[in-house]
Amino acid sequence: MNEQVNLQRIQRQAGLCLRRVSKSFGSVEVIRDVDLDIEGGEFVVFVGPSGCGKSTLLRLIAGLEEVTSGDVLIAGKDVTEEDPSDRGIAMVFQTYALYPHMTVAQNMGFGLKVAGRSKTEVEEKVGQAADVLQLNDYLDRRPGQLSGGQRQRVAIGRAIVRDPDVFLFDEPLSNLDAELRVDMRIEIARLHQKLGNTMIYVTHDQTEAMTLADKIVVLRAGRIEQVGSPSTLYDDPDNMFVGGFIGSPK
Ligand code: ADP
Ligand code: MG
Repeated sequence: MNEQVNLQRIQRQAGLCLRRVSKSFGSVEVIRDVDLDIEGGEFVVFVGPSGCGKSTLLRLIAGLEEVTSGDVLIAGKDVTEEDPSDRGIAMVFQTYALYPHMTVAQNMGFGLKVAGRSKTEVEEKVGQAADVLQLNDYLDRRPGQLSGGQRQRVAIGRAIVRDPDVFLFDEPLSNLDAELRVDMRIEIARLHQKLGNTMIYVTHDQTEAMTLADKIVVLRAGRIEQVGSPSTLYDDPDNMFVGGFIGSPK
């Protein structure tokens, strides 16, 4: 593993700010006046009931949806009008959406290749990501020849090769069986420790939230209900809704 590259990455910690962000689909407002500050390098977990707006909020940060009002700042820069590809962000989805006819290496390098990077650079980045994710022995396989956990690692590898400032994960483990979820959870914690990037992670799994997060954001009907460290939310929830999600209700 090239330690120098690791160190460079650790120094690239971009914070993220949402300023009064709202989003409506037609007449329905699904994100309402969300203010949030995330420090560079923080691991932030979004939790909340199905339909409360977790995925929409990630998509607004990534630029896959346009805000109706408000601003998105990444590393101090207003990116509200920027294209997704110019935001320094990579997103990992619940469904890995790998190309079945391509090898692991081709899947991981495809985005860089399309972006016009040289063959040497693509190979180098894929090699580094494979090191981090222990996928070296699988680079020539196709997705059909991999386990669920390995496929999810390839999906994460595809994000790593882009060397993003911020990783967004939308329920990345919910398609895996219970045992594998634990392994991958540990893997993701390790990844965060190693890369040091800012990570935002959506889950409805309480254990994932409690073990991964520096900071948990509890969402309810498009609003932030409470933000705090796992222990704060567990020991001192603001209300029964938060208590019901994270700890014991007051
Ligand atoms: P979560 O990820 O927390 O389950 P979502 O962000 O997917 O919630 O959805 C929040 C709300 O926004 C839901 O009521 C959903 O139906 C609605 N919604 C999401 N995407 C769209 C869309 N493209 N068009 C219309 N409504 C949408
Ligand atoms: Mg969702």
